[in-house]
Amino acid sequence: MTVINRFFALSLLLVLCACADQSEPDRAGAGDESAQATAGQGTSDSSEPAAAETDVAAFDAFADQLIDEMLQRSPEWAIYQGRYENAGEVSIPDAAHRRDELAFVADALERLGEFDREALPVDQRTDYDLLENRLESARFYTRTLRSWEWQPSNYNVAGPLNILLNTEFAPLPERLALIRDRLEHVPAYYEAARESLGTPTLEHTELAISQNRGSLSVLDDIREKADEAQLDADLSDSLSDALAGAEAAIEDWVGWLEQRLAKLEESGNARPFRLGEALYEEKFAYDIQADFTAAELYRRAQAEKERLLDEMDGYTKELWPKYFTGEPMPEDRLARIGQMIDRLSQEHVAVEDFVDEIRQQIPELAEFVRENDLLDQDPDKPLIVRETPEYMRGSGAIASVSAPGPFNPDADTYYNVTPLETFGEEQAASYLREYNDWMLQILNIHEGIPGHYTQLLHANKSPSLVKSLFGNGAMVEGWAVYAERMMLEQGWGDQAPELWLMHGKWLLRVTHNAILDYAVHVRGMERDEAVRMMREEAFQEKSEATQKWRRLTLTQVQLTSYYAGYSAIYDLRERLKAEQGEDFDLKAFHNEFLSYGSAPVNTIAELMSESE
Ligand code: ZN
Repeated sequence: MTVINRFFALSLLLVLCACADQSEPDRAGAGDESAQATAGQGTSDSSEPAAAETDVAAFDAFADQLIDEMLQRSPEWAIYQGRYENAGEVSIPDAAHRRDELAFVADALERLGEFDREALPVDQRTDYDLLENRLESARFYTRTLRSWEWQPSNYNVAGPLNILLNTEFAPLPERLALIRDRLEHVPAYYEAARESLGTPTLEHTELAISQNRGSLSVLDDIREKADEAQLDADLSDSLSDALAGAEAAIEDWVGWLEQRLAKLEESGNARPFRLGEALYEEKFAYDIQADFTAAELYRRAQAEKERLLDEMDGYTKELWPKYFTGEPMPEDRLARIGQMIDRLSQEHVAVEDFVDEIRQQIPELAEFVRENDLLDQDPDKPLIVRETPEYMRGSGAIASVSAPGPFNPDADTYYNVTPLETFGEEQAASYLREYNDWMLQILNIHEGIPGHYTQLLHANKSPSLVKSLFGNGAMVEGWAVYAERMMLEQGWGDQAPELWLMHGKWLLRVTHNAILDYAVHVRGMERDEAVRMMREEAFQEKSEATQKWRRLTLTQVQLTSYYAGYSAIYDLRERLKAEQGEDFDLKAFHNEFLSYGSAPVNTIAELMSESE
């Protein structure tokens, strides 16, 4: 999940990942007993049935009530989740709003604390933990991290407008009326943004400028659809007034940011983008929700890097005679792996075929998953490949998935691909080497099948609304990375050493995401060293390395989520395999793992062990 326009931490996002960067079970558990045991509600423990059931019912009612309140309080979050009751209202990100949110969080935590966590069955206990984490992290974001003060890119009105425009939950004129209502708030919204902003970072200011400029194109899209819709005169007039007002407000905001930027560049007084150790560890704890610290993950990632380089060296030696007949192999390990990767990177599609090639591969991946019985799929909900909408570009990602929320599971899921033509010739060529014939397959597994798209389909059928709404980013990204390796293990690509070597490169990037995020934000690593490491030790293309640096400056912790989740999922699978021996069933493992919504991996591990 990449850049998230949230001014309040409760606004969990649905746009996933910039995995470019690196990059359901339907009926939980496919009908085995474990599914019933975890289907929520009816887990009756015969030893003390009456009390337990009352507690469970009361807790579930409380959770539903709390979610309702949150949806009411944040129309934007509700829109992302597929609920449109208050879609015409806009949260104005001012000081009063923040105070009000903090009071709500304090009250909600108090009400949550009235339940005896230990007395709840495991399903409700994990919902308890997720709600508590969500509330506490909202408080942390508002009160301690205070990104509303220094990340101007938090302020952007385009996301919800685009959803209202393009999601067909109601006839177009009704949606355009909601859009008009939102647009009328846009001037007040940016006025509050200006007042909230303290000293921003240069990086987030530049991002805010480019993304808000992109937002203007959403207004053009609205105009275009309104012209086609033959609206009645009232709506037509009020909409065009609202559009004009919003456009002026966005242009003012962009102009104001450009002036700020120029002054900050001149004075050198911008806020540094690095988070520092204390804030970083705290954010890591809330965002990743693992049972290890950021420092521990950093050390593990460094060890994994060494293991990977060894493995990749083996494939390089195996492939050398095939691609470099008679040429001597370099003595240096990094040099020979790099040379082999360079050679393989020459095999790629033409720039104009990039999106079409992705479109063609998706059904092939679905077929492989079906033939090999790897997990449940839902042919009624296809993944639609589209060009990334304008307003979502500019964050450095060339691919991402936008999925419907649990309230709207029938809406379409999009695979957003940014056409490489938009990057200019040199950078497009670099992306093509990066997403060569082998890497492109891994990208499609990660974003599509059985990665993000498949996981989200399953998550939307989770019996727990809490778990599907308060999704854990490390689980989501970890699953997509796990899916890559699992597909190769199961024979996608016929065990070609080329594909395994490229997968090694991909995983090396995931590992470096974790290493660099910590090294840059906590240990103060500078740009040159980070780019050198990515180029020389992780074999990244120049475009990839420079975009990654940009992302390192714009996000904190998020880049560790891939490796944090992947390593935890892989460990869990290997542990269950060892415990269950011949009884271990990969499809059942996948279906059950995915049946709990996007809960943190250690929570899922707990649920799976209780359902055995
Ligand atoms: Zn991803």
